[in-house]
Amino acid sequence: MNDTDVLIIGGGISGLATAWWLAQAGVSVQVWEADNRMGGKISSHQQDGYLTEQAASLLMNSRPDVAQLMNKIGLNDVKTPRLAQAKARRYLLQRGKLQALPMQLSGLLTSPLWSLRGKLRLLLEPFVLAGGTEDETVSQFIRRRLGNEMLEKAMEPYISGTLAANPDLASATATLPRLTALERRFGSITAGILAHKLLRRRTACSTDTFSFRGGMNTLTSTLARGLARTPGVHILSNRGVKEITPIKGGWSVTAATPDAEYNLRTTHVVVATPAPAAARLVAPLDTVLASQLAQIQYAPLVVLHLGLNRQQIAHPLDGTGFLTPRDERQPFTGNLWMSSLFANRAPNKHVLLTTYLGGARQPEATNWNDTRLVDETLHALTPLLALKGNPEMVRIDRHRQALPLYHGAHIARDRAITQQLQGLAGFHIEANYRGGISVRDRIARGQQLAQKICSQLRLTKDKLAISLIPSLSPKY
Ligand SMILES: Cc1cc2nc3c(=O)[nH]c(=O)nc-3n(C[C@H](O)[C@H](O)[C@H](O)COP(=O)(O)OP(=O)(O)OC[C@H]3O[C@@H](n4cnc5c(N)ncnc54)[C@H](O)[C@@H]3O)c2cc1C
Repeated sequence: MNDTDVLIIGGGISGLATAWWLAQAGVSVQVWEADNRMGGKISSHQQDGYLTEQAASLLMNSRPDVAQLMNKIGLNDVKTPRLAQAKARRYLLQRGKLQALPMQLSGLLTSPLWSLRGKLRLLLEPFVLAGGTEDETVSQFIRRRLGNEMLEKAMEPYISGTLAANPDLASATATLPRLTALERRFGSITAGILAHKLLRRRTACSTDTFSFRGGMNTLTSTLARGLARTPGVHILSNRGVKEITPIKGGWSVTAATPDAEYNLRTTHVVVATPAPAAARLVAPLDTVLASQLAQIQYAPLVVLHLGLNRQQIAHPLDGTGFLTPRDERQPFTGNLWMSSLFANRAPNKHVLLTTYLGGARQPEATNWNDTRLVDETLHALTPLLALKGNPEMVRIDRHRQALPLYHGAHIARDRAITQQLQGLAGFHIEANYRGGISVRDRIARGQQLAQKICSQLRLTKDKLAISLIPSLSPKY
């Protein structure tokens, strides 16, 4: 008899979401987290009246299952929607000036951002023959379908700014699963979007971009609190797992703190830690799997938050913020205007700007000291935003391993990981290096894994019931 059906190692959004879906199905589950708090990378901070985010700052959802989770745990009441001005506009840096990015296809065709040649190339997309291979990069895919201008003025800044990745190395299928699927299914992105628009009316929910009162912490802390109140569920921090060993009918897991050692027997284990930690835990069980996990690379990032008096900036800050294409040679990949995105991010008549430095484009920037980070950023922002003076609030969040990079043969590696896991019954790996880095994808993938575990648990229980029958039958 095991102590629990499922033990989840890691209390980031991947682990908590998986636990939540399992708990909905009545499965007994424990989450063991090494840190003294749940949430993993997601962490919101209050400083001098500013509310900053260390990692995810928003959730962009178009999935009914994610909407269902929000609704059921009562997060709908504390959702903070993206403000109208941020919805209406976002900017791109071009030749040293901020240019509004078109939000509709019609606007794209009249926008000064693209040359006539670039626009004509875009219009050719439906006529480009479908092709490409599994290891095609994002740059190859976008150039082939939409042309070089679309790559350099839209996709490269997006991939660098939001995923910290390099489009010349990132796998197109892993990084842009929806766009590549449209080509595979409909022969072109344009045809796919048109067909999708028609289908969407009947199937998916509309796109919703939001955060929460108190920031993204509210998502993970509400999940953790809700789970802790559920019978059969235990959420435990300060439980860094050191060892996993196979036992009959499951796994024995050991965690150690300086004062104590904890051991638990479980039918299923879900490793929801970053890949390097997963590789260390897996090494004694399967060296091939451990080396596949160890191959996953991460981008370092610095998140720099600057709080300023509104009067110090002449720019209207009437949008989400801006991204910087690589040929603009800026010290950062993007700048989010957090106080334009959501209400209550800065004191009245003040603004909060969040800048992302480093990533695969310029990892060396993450080694700069605090003074250099602030100086280089202010120097670059000053002419762009007509900014005067120094910030009244500075906060710097450094991530040595911010985001996993879906570079190279990511799809093949992930398939190999899935195959290798088949040799370890009841052992699962689920975190942001598998199936999407976004919070939305983490919640959706947690549900898929929970469904798989539930069906396996049912199988195990059915098998147990069947194996009990012969031992009972001699009596009758
Ligand atoms: C700067 C930045 C900005 C981002 N912006 C957005 C955004 O706006 N929107 C969005 O959707 N996504 C965003 N993301 C992505 C998103 O935040 C992450 O992909 C997601 O939070 C990762 O969750 P996770 O649970 O997979 O991993 P993690 O959050 O890393 O959680 C893993 C957990 O495992 C624990 N652990 C490790 N080893 C052990 C062990 N041996 N025993 C027990 N526990 C262990 C760790 O302590 C950690 O808590 C951003 C990420 C970053 C870095």
